[in-house]
Amino acid sequence: MSRPAATLLLTFLLLAGSPAAFAQPDLYYTLTVDSSDLSGYDVTIRIEHAPRVFHLAMATHHEYDDRFWRFVTGFHASQPATFSRTDSALWSITTTTEDVVVSYRITLPPPAPLHFSHRPFLTSHGGLIGDLHSFMYIVEDIHAPCRLTLHLPPGWSSASGLDPFTTTPHLLDAPILIGYLHRWTFVVDGTPHEIVYLPSTPTLTFDTATLQNNIQKIVRTAHTIFTAFPYKHYTFLLEDASAGALEHGASVTIGATPSDLSTPNRSGIYEEIAHEFFHSWNGMSIQPPGYTPLNYGPQQLTTGLWFTEGFTMLYADLIARRTGLPTEDSTRLLHLTRLITRYYRDTGNSVLPPAKVSLADYVQPGPLGDYSASTHLQGELLGACLDFLIRDATFVETAALASGRRSLDDLMRNIFQKFGNKQPFTDSAIESATAAICKCNAAHTFFLDYLYEGKPIDFAAYLHLLGLRIQHDQPLARDPQGHPLPDTRVYSYMLRDDTSLRIGISNPNGCWAKAGLHTGDIITAIDNRPLHTRQDFQSVLRTLHIGDTALVQTIPSSPHTAGTTTQKKTGTNTVPVHISSYTTPLITITEDPAATPRQKHLFRAWSSGAPR
Ligand SMILES: [Zn+2]
Repeated sequence: MSRPAATLLLTFLLLAGSPAAFAQPDLYYTLTVDSSDLSGYDVTIRIEHAPRVFHLAMATHHEYDDRFWRFVTGFHASQPATFSRTDSALWSITTTTEDVVVSYRITLPPPAPLHFSHRPFLTSHGGLIGDLHSFMYIVEDIHAPCRLTLHLPPGWSSASGLDPFTTTPHLLDAPILIGYLHRWTFVVDGTPHEIVYLPSTPTLTFDTATLQNNIQKIVRTAHTIFTAFPYKHYTFLLEDASAGALEHGASVTIGATPSDLSTPNRSGIYEEIAHEFFHSWNGMSIQPPGYTPLNYGPQQLTTGLWFTEGFTMLYADLIARRTGLPTEDSTRLLHLTRLITRYYRDTGNSVLPPAKVSLADYVQPGPLGDYSASTHLQGELLGACLDFLIRDATFVETAALASGRRSLDDLMRNIFQKFGNKQPFTDSAIESATAAICKCNAAHTFFLDYLYEGKPIDFAAYLHLLGLRIQHDQPLARDPQGHPLPDTRVYSYMLRDDTSLRIGISNPNGCWAKAGLHTGDIITAIDNRPLHTRQDFQSVLRTLHIGDTALVQTIPSSPHTAGTTTQKKTGTNTVPVHISSYTTPLITITEDPAATPRQKHLFRAWSSGAPR
């Protein structure tokens, strides 16, 4: 293997004042990328003041468990230390000396057709490295101070949200974009921000001034809500030829093609940037309950995503409106109407408590049984209703001001001041903050009904506060030509490390559930057409019509058992599914002609999206 040019690009100093008397380990990480072998990268960790027995682990991300411990190769600890792999993500090291050097390689998985922006990759022009996909941490001292040195190919630079004075939780939360990077900086309220782009081609084919301008507007608008940043500096890491986005404490990785960035009226990319950026407050600084800074093994779950994700969804839309960037829906009322339609279309949103839906969000299908529900959607609508409640309860009519004096902005700011970079929030703490802002009993009723008891949201009552009426119809679902649609509201999936294709039921009252099928049942064929992949399943679904009887061959999953079935010698069941039509929600929200001036004031203020 040829050595890359020894380019020292990042050096992070040890945390000042770390008292050696406590014998806290100091970690010196080195990551080396060799341009002649881009199949992976090499990591060494020099541990000073090492405990006599300690463990190194590959951490689990609570949102995306990519299990990169699978790609650790050549693990080695310097003599006289001895080591053993005691679990899939855990290595035990025993030493008689204070200093130990551990080395290993991350051998990257084969490139996928669709690259997720948060996962490491390497190409001849750059890539993404670092964070918990690359670096192990000492289980016995997760806050150990550390510094990092990168050895990169000649001409490559690096960008990340790393702070010079860092600890392992921050190091493992900081992806590093490397390669032939384009970069721009700006300052808001004295805090530096950087935009970095890794293109697939040498020249940029989009308007970079517009990109900078739009991101600056997002940063300024979000800052206005909280009045302070939760970080010392922030880096937007934009990657061509990748998809998705993931928030970090002081950075974000975002897949952004030149096409995304050169289409000014496309709402997706800037709403996505606003969403992930808002997470630097709501999610990274204001932390939901149930997460620890670093852990290995199973993913950690939380009951708080209704707030972390739901309110972030609400603000992604609102920040785009406040900055004049394109939005998916032309008005806030249309946006709300679409959300409420989806609320009723997914059968679980009005049945399952937000905490339960939150716990099921980042894991494999199954925990919600035969219901479908979204913590993002539940939370965004809870946020909208809470906003109405606060605006109404704080309404004051004067010559200069005729509207709610407070809004959801005040709640977000209050929660940030109380919980930002401190202990995780709780639902009752958000209730207390709401009550302190609205000075009303309605806050307790709201949290009792919707968070603690999980009742369906009474939209009519909250829309009434703004002088709005809601009508909920359930017509037959039809195609664009007006023909009733067959009930194919099912999906298929495979569990991790399992090749069995399983059916997912999204409506417990649909024809598939009525036939006796349940989420998790293994499906092997429909009408004797074998099913091996999700594409096979989709192909068969497209052939079904109202009135058909689909013969589904299944292996029922425990504890469910199929209903009207015919047992076969092979151990599979044949379940006849009588394909029916189905109804779908049609939500209409209108201004009440009898609305009072107070209600009209409140509606106008809310629909403008202007900050309070
Ligand atoms: Zn999110």
